Amino acid sequence: MAIDTGIANDFEVVIGLEVHSQLLTKSKMFCPCSTDYAYAAPNTHVCPICMGMPGVLPVINEQAVAYTIMTALALNCEIPAYSKFDRKNYPYPDLMKGYQISQYDVPLSKNGYLTIEHNGQVKRIGITRVHLEEDTARLLHRDGYSLVDINRSGTPLMEIVSEPDMRSPEEARLYMQTLREILVYLGVSSGRMEEGSLRCDANISVRPRGQQKLGVKSEIKNMNSFRSVERALAYEAQRQIELLRTGQPIHQETRGWVETKGITVAQRSKEYAHDYRYFPEPDLPPLLISRAWVEELRAQLPELPDARRARYVDEYGLSAQDANVLTEEKALGDYFEQVVAASQTSDRKARAKAAANLVLNDVVRLLKNSSISIQESPLSPAASANLLDLLEKERITGKQAKEVLEEAFASGNMPDVIVQEKGIEPPISDLGVLERIIEEVIANNSKAVSDYRAGKTNALQRLKGEVMKQTRGQAKPDSVQTILIAKLDETPTS
Ligand SMILES: [Zn+2]
Repeated sequence: MAIDTGIANDFEVVIGLEVHSQLLTKSKMFCPCSTDYAYAAPNTHVCPICMGMPGVLPVINEQAVAYTIMTALALNCEIPAYSKFDRKNYPYPDLMKGYQISQYDVPLSKNGYLTIEHNGQVKRIGITRVHLEEDTARLLHRDGYSLVDINRSGTPLMEIVSEPDMRSPEEARLYMQTLREILVYLGVSSGRMEEGSLRCDANISVRPRGQQKLGVKSEIKNMNSFRSVERALAYEAQRQIELLRTGQPIHQETRGWVETKGITVAQRSKEYAHDYRYFPEPDLPPLLISRAWVEELRAQLPELPDARRARYVDEYGLSAQDANVLTEEKALGDYFEQVVAASQTSDRKARAKAAANLVLNDVVRLLKNSSISIQESPLSPAASANLLDLLEKERITGKQAKEVLEEAFASGNMPDVIVQEKGIEPPISDLGVLERIIEEVIANNSKAVSDYRAGKTNALQRLKGEVMKQTRGQAKPDSVQTILIAKLDETPTS
């Protein structure tokens, strides 16, 4: 279904996103419980701290703080030397203590940005802050009652708040995709929106174009894919514009996105900061962040997607398009680089191009057909490199390479082993041999020859097919074509 993002010209849409990401730490934010609960039975990864028992004391997870600072650095934020945790009070049954430990007025970082690319234009989206908090328990609603699974309670949760700098649902989706790429590259987040480890809430308002004052906003929740972010915001923008056009008020409220119906529905009136009665968390000391530690973390930052894309274009001579697709998923780019590194070739640029083609066309197709990820590929980077080596040395033809590739993908064997086992002969490189075969084919297929001379173009294909058959596919198609045409044109008409 096409997404209607055609928002009216007389109104401007203003969007800011709040993204929550669980962090890939081994243990929870304030207790030693394991965060590896995805496939665990309910309430098995719990202790008195994450169950919110009275009298227990939380201890800050240093790795979670490090991941948050790394993310903030990657998003060009300032890291203040002093930060602290606060209590955010609200009475929900998924909040075991009756409050969440979060950060209020002195977050771990502030004032950053990230850049998105939209229609060839680069746009900077401000990052207000990146802070650290804890996830809640999970409620499972049944018929007339609810169950609570506390496994998720206390999982480190990083919140990334953007400035209201986005002007269309499409920009919001691009921001979300760019941010996700960065988090996955940093290794701090699994990036799995479908599992809820990466979540997005959006603040959206509309105003007549040219007006400075922001309109009344609503907050949209429950969007669990890039596509639903874009669809929900397009719907909500249209809804608000309709209200303004018909002179009705917009209420500040929280609305939920209903994926199946493609609409947002009112959930509750929006809370304001004072509703939460924030106060400094008395059970935790403030965080004093040394400059030395920040610089240590900065030095540990991996290459980020933008830098990698630029390097693929400069160093490997790839097209911007190929570089984009290869870097979208970090694992795919890693695989591509391993193929290039494992190759026995002196021409690295030519090999990088061949590797990019192999990965983006063939490997991606095979993975898709078997519904597996690149990390699970039975075809190792070394096997892909081996296949490209065989092609470069003209040990196999392009057509044979396709077969060998399918086999290598299915069995996990190395292409050179497969070539040996299947007894694939080297291609006919002796042009004398090829010429004799072509002459025989011409002599034995007079009908096709006269058709060709009568101008029927498909006759050439028939003759070419016959030569390929006679050579058992071991001749190079371009050589066959060239010699065949030359012979047909020189042989005197009988
Ligand atoms: Zn615990």
